[in-house]
Amino acid sequence: MPLLVMKFGGTSVADLDRIANAAAKVKREVDRGYDVIVIVSAMSGKTNELVGWVEGTSPLYDAREYDAVVASGENVTAGLMALRLQEMGIPARSWQGWQVPINTTSAHGSARFKSIPRENIDTKFAEGMKVAVVAGFQGLSAENRITTLGRGGSDTTAVAFAAAFDAERCDIYTDVDGVYTTDPRISSKARKLDKIAFEEMLELASLGAKVLQTRSVELAMRFGVRLRVLSSFEETDETSGTLVCGEDEIMESKVVSGVAYSRDEAKITLFTIEDRPGVAQAIFGPLSEAGVNVDMIVQNISEKDYDDNHPGAVTDMTFSCPINQVARAQKALEDAKAAGKIKYDELIIDTDVAKVSVVGIGMRSQVGVAARTFEALAAENINIKVISTSEIKISVLIDRKYMELAVQALHDAFELEKA
Ligand code: ASP
Ligand code: MG
Repeated sequence: MPLLVMKFGGTSVADLDRIANAAAKVKREVDRGYDVIVIVSAMSGKTNELVGWVEGTSPLYDAREYDAVVASGENVTAGLMALRLQEMGIPARSWQGWQVPINTTSAHGSARFKSIPRENIDTKFAEGMKVAVVAGFQGLSAENRITTLGRGGSDTTAVAFAAAFDAERCDIYTDVDGVYTTDPRISSKARKLDKIAFEEMLELASLGAKVLQTRSVELAMRFGVRLRVLSSFEETDETSGTLVCGEDEIMESKVVSGVAYSRDEAKITLFTIEDRPGVAQAIFGPLSEAGVNVDMIVQNISEKDYDDNHPGAVTDMTFSCPINQVARAQKALEDAKAAGKIKYDELIIDTDVAKVSVVGIGMRSQVGVAARTFEALAAENINIKVISTSEIKISVLIDRKYMELAVQALHDAFELEKA
């Protein structure tokens, strides 16, 4: 039997009517001849409520009990979905993570998959079950405790099942109808993409296009799982939504596929640091130990290169990180300075910046993307504070107040409104 994985996010199962609506979509695939594994999220808002209950009870909670509580949201929807499908005459049953079992590491709150043995579910399919409704976001540790995968983790559960069960496709039903060239709330010209490559989606996901959990895209890329994002609130068919797939399935791609942004960035500059071997390690070592997620890094060229004749050469170092990690970063740097591990004259923190990025696999083979990007920003008089690039991305850090304008200007410059 061909098999499909269908994942329904929180808004798609927010109440009994919506569960019924999702079940109707499952039934259609069963009627087409598929065995289906349905992965469900908790009803929208439920996980936040459960987290609040845990924190309200025990601020420094035992992470194992956090997981026991927070995983329960998905159990409710899995059972309700199975019941709804049964009401529609479809042989279905629910599976909690431990019943599969979904084996994970013991990192409570951010567990990773170790294995998903197929045997139990395959046996039930062989006995006539048509739909396995699996609670997303959860698993079981080697210590026999319930684990969770981190917020948004049901996407990753869905991809992991698609890989484990050789699914034809993994359909992610959500409250948007696909992946867009940019956020439609920022540019009215944003266009839905029919297809996007894994690499591009990975950049867009980690850059703040919050359609899919980044880990789910990584996993899909690694195992070649074809992933489709589509709306659970619209009539959908085989061609709906956006397919996230390998480059080989995309005939020709534009030089830029999308413009992403991240509003909550901060820029930190260390003025007058020593220019000598080991300085970057002395700065970023403590930041990494403090759990700071450093993104863009720029080191100025020094006035004189470090060598035996210029042992006192100095330079500046600038990096960006999420705004909510600034306090941690500052403390790590100040502590390192106090301990004599690094020297700097001044620590300058700018919390009014945003990152805007153009992304596209077409960049690999076409020149002039950087020039067009900078031209578009210059035409709007937007000053660039930091630039970083990868093979398929150009990111700039700019004043936050220009973020929307920059996104619109870049979307126009690369004519993303046109297919
Ligand atoms: N319910 C979990 C969350 O809200 C997992 C998920 O929905 O993907 O983060
Ligand atoms: Mg989600």
